[in-house]
Amino acid sequence: MTDCIFCKIARHEVPSRIVFENERLLAFHDLFPAAPTHILLIPKSHYTTLNDVPASEAVVLGELMTTAAQIARDNGFADDGYRVVMNCNSDGGQSVYHIHLHLLAGRKLTWPPG
Ligand code: 5GP
Ligand code: ZN
Repeated sequence: MTDCIFCKIARHEVPSRIVFENERLLAFHDLFPAAPTHILLIPKSHYTTLNDVPASEAVVLGELMTTAAQIARDNGFADDGYRVVMNCNSDGGQSVYHIHLHLLAGRKLTWPPG
């Protein structure tokens, strides 16, 4: 996906404030943070929405979640708490069509979400 902004970030063609990276995924700060800590975790492979991840590739989603928890521990907010969210399509509020897990922390988050 040559035109996808998150593919470009994954390839380091567009700068981002990287928090963690390995061969399969990248975590970086959101450009418009909705909480004191707002990190996005993406697979380097392009999946347009959660609907496009086949069950055979579920390990990708698992690694996003376990990496989010590791970032929370490494940055000292695991015990206070945090929220992980993946928006899907229009009703879910998705605006960038390359799957990403939001990791939000640093303030008391309300429920239900807006
Ligand atoms: P969505 O609305 O799709 O769930 O979340 C997309 C997120 O990506 C938003 O929180 C938005 O602020 C963030 N975002 C959009 N474009 C960029 C960008 O170029 N760089 C970074 N770091 N974040 C971005
Ligand atoms: Zn992409």
